[in-house]
Amino acid sequence: MAQPPTSGTDNPLLAPWTAPFGVAPFEAVRPEHFRPALDRELAEHAAEVAAIATSPAAPTFDNTIVALERSGQLLSRVGDVFGALCGAHTNDELLAIEREMSPLWARHRNNILMNQDLFRRIDQLMAQRDSLGLTPEQARLLERHHTRHRRAGAGLDEAAKARLAQIAERLAVLGTSFSQNVLADERDYTLVLDSEADLAGLPDFVRAAARGAAQERGLAGKHVITLSRSSVEPFLQFSARRDLREKAFRAWIARGDAGKTDNKAFIAEMVALRAERAKLLGYPSYAHYRLDDEMARTPGAVRNLLDTVWGYARAQAMDDRKDLQDLVQEEGGNFHLAPWDWRYYAEKLRKRCCDIDESAIKPYLQLERIIAAAFHAANKLFGLTFEPRNDVPTWHPDVRVFEVKDAQGRYRGLFFGDYFARASKRSGAWMTTLRDQEKLTGPDVRPLVINVMNFSRSGAGEPDLLSYDDARTLFHEFGHGLHAMLSNVTYPSISGTSVETDFVELPSQLYEHWIERPEVLREFAVHYQTGEPMPEDLLKRLLAARNFNQGATTVEYVASALVDLDFHLLDKADGLDVTQFEKDSLDRIGMPAEIVMRHRPPHFAHVFSGGGYASAYYSYMWSEVLDADAFSAFEETGNIFDPATAAKLRDNIYSAGGTREPAELYTSFRGRLPTPDALLRKRGFIAPLTPAA
Ligand SMILES: [Zn+2]
Repeated sequence: MAQPPTSGTDNPLLAPWTAPFGVAPFEAVRPEHFRPALDRELAEHAAEVAAIATSPAAPTFDNTIVALERSGQLLSRVGDVFGALCGAHTNDELLAIEREMSPLWARHRNNILMNQDLFRRIDQLMAQRDSLGLTPEQARLLERHHTRHRRAGAGLDEAAKARLAQIAERLAVLGTSFSQNVLADERDYTLVLDSEADLAGLPDFVRAAARGAAQERGLAGKHVITLSRSSVEPFLQFSARRDLREKAFRAWIARGDAGKTDNKAFIAEMVALRAERAKLLGYPSYAHYRLDDEMARTPGAVRNLLDTVWGYARAQAMDDRKDLQDLVQEEGGNFHLAPWDWRYYAEKLRKRCCDIDESAIKPYLQLERIIAAAFHAANKLFGLTFEPRNDVPTWHPDVRVFEVKDAQGRYRGLFFGDYFARASKRSGAWMTTLRDQEKLTGPDVRPLVINVMNFSRSGAGEPDLLSYDDARTLFHEFGHGLHAMLSNVTYPSISGTSVETDFVELPSQLYEHWIERPEVLREFAVHYQTGEPMPEDLLKRLLAARNFNQGATTVEYVASALVDLDFHLLDKADGLDVTQFEKDSLDRIGMPAEIVMRHRPPHFAHVFSGGGYASAYYSYMWSEVLDADAFSAFEETGNIFDPATAAKLRDNIYSAGGTREPAELYTSFRGRLPTPDALLRKRGFIAPLTPAA
């Protein structure tokens, strides 16, 4: 191995960045540059924070909060480049550095959050908050810093802190065991389909996937269904063999529920540890602790929303059940619809009402035109323009760069679009930044914003075509991008997308609405060979398909969210009987017998492997309430680009970052808090709005 460069002069990460717009010198950066640069900047940041914490001067907003905001600039500059490469263009060397660095990052972050001297200063400022003469943004910033440290346990005595650390470690171990059990059940189970009779009803794409799964398991020439969602769901949807559907379904909902991979004891312990953790931090339950720092604020607010949607969704599902049962009878079936029948008969009904052939849609969705549509909507709404730049360094030749300007022609930032799948890229789609907007370290530091997708190329000189889901994903990530590009705040830590988890998807999910509108599709969904717009009939079916089977889909989701909430409302959970608890929870809401939770507790990874969504599985629906209600603000004016509504949306949501509480931001935009009506309309549970006259 070559000697790693150590001084700033031969490490391009540590030398001044002279490329246009201050972008990192990507062509010169090699993996071996990162470790020395990160080590140096981590130490530098730790020293900066130590100096703030131990300053002999009495704490002021400036010498404590502003100083913290200014600290670690070079670390985040290098860290952002490292993070971008690890996601979008990685290799074994970068992956190894990432593994080495991840515990170091965690320790660094913890050391700062748990620093007693630092917390004492922040706590003092918080106590004097009203007499410090702060602007509203500064007051909010102080509160955010205080909350972050307090929620990490900074104010507690040594014994409590030691116990919190123990709990965190044990939870990490349990979460890993939980996911490994689910993975093992998904990997090891196989339903082998031996004959043509076993394959009855399965379309080509399901057969091809089943052949691939068989090959992977050394069963070349056969067909295998596994318990991963992408294998078993299409099987349940298409297989005409009721006996095999039952077999696969029963195995699927039993993942993590028995034998060597039984997760129930892990769940009981995790629920108990989380309740204990919340108590140590002064909350009555884990749900109270978790939700206190979300827009929802309280378990009551979450339950309110879920209960409301539940009523409509359950009623819709019961109606749909009748239609499905009728279809069973119509086909001469002499049985009651069972959970393993739902997807199969729903698929038959879907074919009747709103069949769409993916291959008929694709020729109308060219990548170039969908990018243009996303830019067009940003122009109509916010006056932004996007000019291609060829002189900016990037991490891969496929990456496109655009200079973003506002209606007055002022530079607002750079947008990097990295659209195609490649071996060096992680799967999925995401938005990230190489620099955030702020006004602290310069008069107006502008953001460098990245969107990464995994679209496949058409190849051979043909234009690249997208599926409708792809197009929606592009708009989703571009919506996150706008949240960063339009940001207009002073302090870096509350810039752009640095907002609550149940609020951060509002700008992205809201933006998806514009690619779901005929006004936009008519102009941008044109055939790649003929240039003809998508036929009206196809467009109608495409948009109608969205509401199909929403009753059952919503019941599956809301039931999971409610059970998640119930677990985390327990104030202690020693000796918890997980199976009985699940049953009681579902009995209380009247779960229809023909539908099963989207994630039963023994395999509810969102909640029990890592806990990212523990008592927060509701957030998907919370965000949907916001985006549906926000888009209705445009619909109510009869103009999906209404300038007055767009200006309010920009000022209070897209440019506001975390400067105010989400509920306050939303109310300033909409004049009131959201109601679930628009979501209920969007999912087809109540009648659509009559168009404005
Ligand atoms: Zn998102």
